[in-house]
Amino acid sequence: MPTIEDLRRTLARIDGRGYKAYKDLEGSYHHHQFILFVDHVQGDPFASPSKVRVRISQSVANVPQAFFANTARRVAVQDFLIRTTHSAIRHVSQGHRGMGKSGLISIDVGGQEVLERTAMLVNHEWVEARLQVGLPAQGRTVLGRQAEAMLCQEIPQIVEQGLLWGNIPQREGKQFVDWVENQEHIRHQLDSLGLVAFIGDGATLPRASGASDSPLAGKNVRRFQSPESLRVTIPIPNPIEQGGKPVGSLTGMGIPKGVTLIVGGGYHGKSTLLRALERGIYPHVPGDGREFVVASQGAVKIRAEDGRRIEQVDISGFITNLPFGQNTTQFCTDNASGSTSQAATILEALEVGATVLLLDEDTSATNFMVRDARMQALVIKAHEPITPFLDRVRELFQTQGVSSVLVMGGCGDYFDVADTVIMMREYLPLEVTVEAQQIARSHETHRCMEVASSMPSLAHRIPLPESIDPSRGRREVKIDTKGIDLIVFGHEAIDLKGVEQLVDISQTRAVGCAIQLAAERFIDGKARLCDVVEDVGRLLTVEGLDVLDPFYRPGRHPGNFARPRSYEIAAALNRLRTVRMRQA
Ligand code: ADP
Ligand code: MG
Repeated sequence: MPTIEDLRRTLARIDGRGYKAYKDLEGSYHHHQFILFVDHVQGDPFASPSKVRVRISQSVANVPQAFFANTARRVAVQDFLIRTTHSAIRHVSQGHRGMGKSGLISIDVGGQEVLERTAMLVNHEWVEARLQVGLPAQGRTVLGRQAEAMLCQEIPQIVEQGLLWGNIPQREGKQFVDWVENQEHIRHQLDSLGLVAFIGDGATLPRASGASDSPLAGKNVRRFQSPESLRVTIPIPNPIEQGGKPVGSLTGMGIPKGVTLIVGGGYHGKSTLLRALERGIYPHVPGDGREFVVASQGAVKIRAEDGRRIEQVDISGFITNLPFGQNTTQFCTDNASGSTSQAATILEALEVGATVLLLDEDTSATNFMVRDARMQALVIKAHEPITPFLDRVRELFQTQGVSSVLVMGGCGDYFDVADTVIMMREYLPLEVTVEAQQIARSHETHRCMEVASSMPSLAHRIPLPESIDPSRGRREVKIDTKGIDLIVFGHEAIDLKGVEQLVDISQTRAVGCAIQLAAERFIDGKARLCDVVEDVGRLLTVEGLDVLDPFYRPGRHPGNFARPRSYEIAAALNRLRTVRMRQA
């Protein structure tokens, strides 16, 4: 194998030549601490940066085996090493060295959530970091000396500072991995504890601002304190320090299965609590404040999203008798209303196995949530297509075991159907179930239940392969991610603004490619959507996220992906405007 010295010589040779000469770098180079793979060289200084990997043998990297002994710990240690590499890059890299992206070295680092990512791989044999490098140019001329500084000096320093276990903050690393494992451990226990979520005492739920995901700081932050009646203590595998002593459990509020209302005055922290639950499907980094918040893996946020497309969804459990006799058992529209979109989103989530629905009055269609007695009197049922969620929410739990957590500050009619009522008062939760039930008895709503019959059984759908086309121009597969909530799939834009549990643009990128992977391997005109997304999930678990790259082959940089849940993959497919399905 060529060595780093050979790389130096090549760079000296191509110095001052046209940018295409950089193509000569593709290959692998031996350094005494690692192997450098130059997998892909960008076409020009303004194109997306070149892709390189560094692979360090464990005899050099020395990541203790205990840190990747199970999936939760492996994901955590990989994520942690991405962060140490990221800070080493910031420390070492000189930054811009010419035009466009010249001189930039980067790694796909995440935010407050800890996700499985393709940017780092740790196993028994080696540690591999996958980087982006902007090969430097002046105009279109190779800056060989600058490239040498990057590849032959900065990268070895980055490895030295960010990837060798002996040189990184080990205590922090242990805490990071332990905390992530604790969160996953709690998540696995929720079901048998009869809970859908857990919020530990001491958690910080509010964020610094509407534009920042960091914790709110300062003396006006109320830390979470569980009400005694909902308090649970859950064992954790890695003891944490509390008051100088190691403690092997966490205490906090358990949200039981069933129908839970979060009530309270405006601006008292209801939505903040729900948003923490939405994000609680992922582990958070220590210090985030939400590392104490764990929600069931199957918790799906439901919101109104008018304008979206809906394909062949049976929404008749919520909506019937539309004008002009439009069919709601196989409902299709290019322009959903608030209520039809919310109904469809619920059924789509149930179709792929959601076990908990999270709803906030702030983002719900009022007429989907409730119709009160006066409105029932004015607009008689025969002229109202909607069976409000209020009249289905208990049934969903009783017949399908699907729980709901609803933020409801404006409608007390829900007291009749709630198992648990939590009141937020000055950012602290109180349990007020008994009071709410008493009020429900003494203040009748005088409304009538609007259900004519029970929810129809779930209509599974089969996506049709010819309706999914990732091609654009001469490219057979062209999928671009324009932001956390926008994928351009072939010629089609997939708008994911309503899919609020995507938290990282690398997840969005993965979702776009997962649709393509599904179309290529599993969507055959016979497989049901639920099985398709399950198959994709299984493939990602068995083979790793590297397979998401449509052009992947071993020995090629797998790109920057972070793992999405199957719910979000299905949600994106449901929003692809060309997609056609038939009911099974
Ligand atoms: P609601 O949904 O009840 O109207 P929000 O959850 O939107 O209220 O919260 C209102 C404001 O209070 C937000 O700016 C939020 O950041 C802040 N906030 C929420 N929880 C806390 C807390 N525990 N401590 C301090 N501020 C908080
Ligand atoms: Mg609110």
